[in-house]
Amino acid sequence: MNFEELNLDPKIMRAVTEMGFEQASPIQAKSIPIAMEGKDMIGQAQTGTGKTAAFGIPVLQRVDPHKKKLQTIVLCPTRELAIQSANEIRKLSKFMHGVKVLPIYGGQEISKQIRSLKGGVQVVIGTPGRVIDHIRRHTLKLGELETIVLDEADEMLNMGFVEDIETIISKTNPEHTTMLFSATMPEGIKKIAKNYMKPDYKHIQVKQKTVTANTVKQYYFEVKQKDRFETLCRIIDSETVQSGIIFCRTKRSVDEVTEQMQKANYNVEAMHGDLNQDHRMRTLKKFKEGTIHYLIATDVAARGIDVENISHV
Ligand code: AMP
Repeated sequence: MNFEELNLDPKIMRAVTEMGFEQASPIQAKSIPIAMEGKDMIGQAQTGTGKTAAFGIPVLQRVDPHKKKLQTIVLCPTRELAIQSANEIRKLSKFMHGVKVLPIYGGQEISKQIRSLKGGVQVVIGTPGRVIDHIRRHTLKLGELETIVLDEADEMLNMGFVEDIETIISKTNPEHTTMLFSATMPEGIKKIAKNYMKPDYKHIQVKQKTVTANTVKQYYFEVKQKDRFETLCRIIDSETVQSGIIFCRTKRSVDEVTEQMQKANYNVEAMHGDLNQDHRMRTLKKFKEGTIHYLIATDVAARGIDVENISHV
């Protein structure tokens, strides 16, 4: 679905275009129309599926920029997520003058948050503990709240925030809309839905975007382009690598990395679509036997390769 079909406020549409979004992701295509009508909903989706915009867009669509009062609260489990979501929603609201979006979380000086809140914030993204703190200090008033979003609700439950969430919901205007996002649907979530959401709420599910095995540890390193090769070598030198695959985006970079590594005396071979089938089979055989330590490949060439004892990718 194209964003044009969603009849968004032209200011939001402009931001969406500037952010480079062309098609709405499945969770967005399904949730945005429901939330724009003010219906309650549960979106079963993971991070990476575009769920921030799935709630951010309808929230902004309903915000009245002239009303300098809190209209939406997004509760999320961690400060990192609060900051990340606030940044995304700020980008979406870039052309909506008068709309203020503020992350509030533990660990940041409360007086600074109070000052910002006094400036008239319509959208708050916060962690439950800090939100309650502000409610007790009367620096956050939920009486005119239009929408509450529970993001990563299952994580918040796991972290023991259920009572805080219930306390917060009990302070809201009963007419509000609830959007709940969760990767899984444990009993605790069903209970929240039953107790606090309108009985005709919609349950939306989207397929998992990527599947990662939790037995695989994942790291990433930020490096400058010019330091990439050196960094790669240092990393693999500092690890005990049984055997590894190094993926490159293009055939040419496979050849370049292979050549550089061979010069540096690494035991490596290239694998990509321009090498003939025989050569590839021989390389793969040697890799399986362990006579080649690293395979350097494009993902296309390496697709479906089944090799045991690969310790690093
Ligand atoms: P999220 O699941 O909300 O953390 O989003 C994951 C990433 O996808 C973020 O970097 C978003 O900016 C991006 N994103 C969200 N919606 C879209 C879309 N419709 N098209 C392209 N990228 C998107």
